[in-house]
Amino acid sequence: MAKRIALVAGFVTLASLAVAVAAAVEAASVPKPQQPQPVPLSAEPLRGGVYWVKGGSGANAGFIIGKKVVIVIDAKMTEESSRAMLVEIQKLTANPVKYVVLTHSDGDHVNGLAGFPPGLTIVAHGNTKKDTEEAFKDPKMSALLPYLPNQAVTGDRPLDIAGVRVKLLYFGPAHTSGDLVVYLPDQKIAFIGDLAFLGRDPLIHRQKGGTSFGLAQTLKKLLALDADTFISGHNDPLTKADIQGLLTAIEEKQAKVKALIEQGKSLEEIKRDFGIADTSGPGGRRWPSLVETIYLDLTEKK
Ligand SMILES: [Zn+2]
Repeated sequence: MAKRIALVAGFVTLASLAVAVAAAVEAASVPKPQQPQPVPLSAEPLRGGVYWVKGGSGANAGFIIGKKVVIVIDAKMTEESSRAMLVEIQKLTANPVKYVVLTHSDGDHVNGLAGFPPGLTIVAHGNTKKDTEEAFKDPKMSALLPYLPNQAVTGDRPLDIAGVRVKLLYFGPAHTSGDLVVYLPDQKIAFIGDLAFLGRDPLIHRQKGGTSFGLAQTLKKLLALDADTFISGHNDPLTKADIQGLLTAIEEKQAKVKALIEQGKSLEEIKRDFGIADTSGPGGRRWPSLVETIYLDLTEKK
């Protein structure tokens, strides 16, 4: 569907924030038959040459304007949206985009790669590289084949990209098995992909090796960073208090589910105890409740 590119950078107002929060809360309880219309894409300044990108198709993204090059974090979901992001970047700097860092392999963070110029260094965790190699085998994804990650990292050491201090951190399986945190120590900002969802249950891809217990461990590591701004895929910028609140909620549910399993309750009984009615999300996709994910984490052998 056609979308217009915003020529004027948008800004966050309290009203739009309230609407977004209300929409997220509503989405958690009342499934809608169709995807909401994407809002126009815009680049929102944070600090020290770092921007987060909201709107368009797919998850939030971001970029860092370095002295010579631009480093992009996540690639939106469509070529149209990634091109719109490049237009926003070109309004701010003449430096070329040379690097894209992927926080993980989900299509709403990756599939816009085809809208980028060729010859990029595409950085990802090894497990994300594997996931994308698998996904891009689909003939419908052939335009993405030139954009496979070509620099795999393990996340165990800091990295300087073109003179920009960046730490690509890996804390083990959480949302997927290949979640990279892009931590900018000078700006005290961390891009965290889909490691946090507010207003609805966190999404954990068990089929990609994700786990709720790994997610809790990862959130603890995020809290230990010297950072005050966390950019996630599907919320406005988050604070440490948001991350702490999410961690507490997950840990409370894990303890409750564990106790109910020890009482011999089945998944269906536990879901009833929590008042969970299964619903399908947009396009019939299932978004399993956190309770179900925790139950499976505790009972299934991997
Ligand atoms: Zn994701």
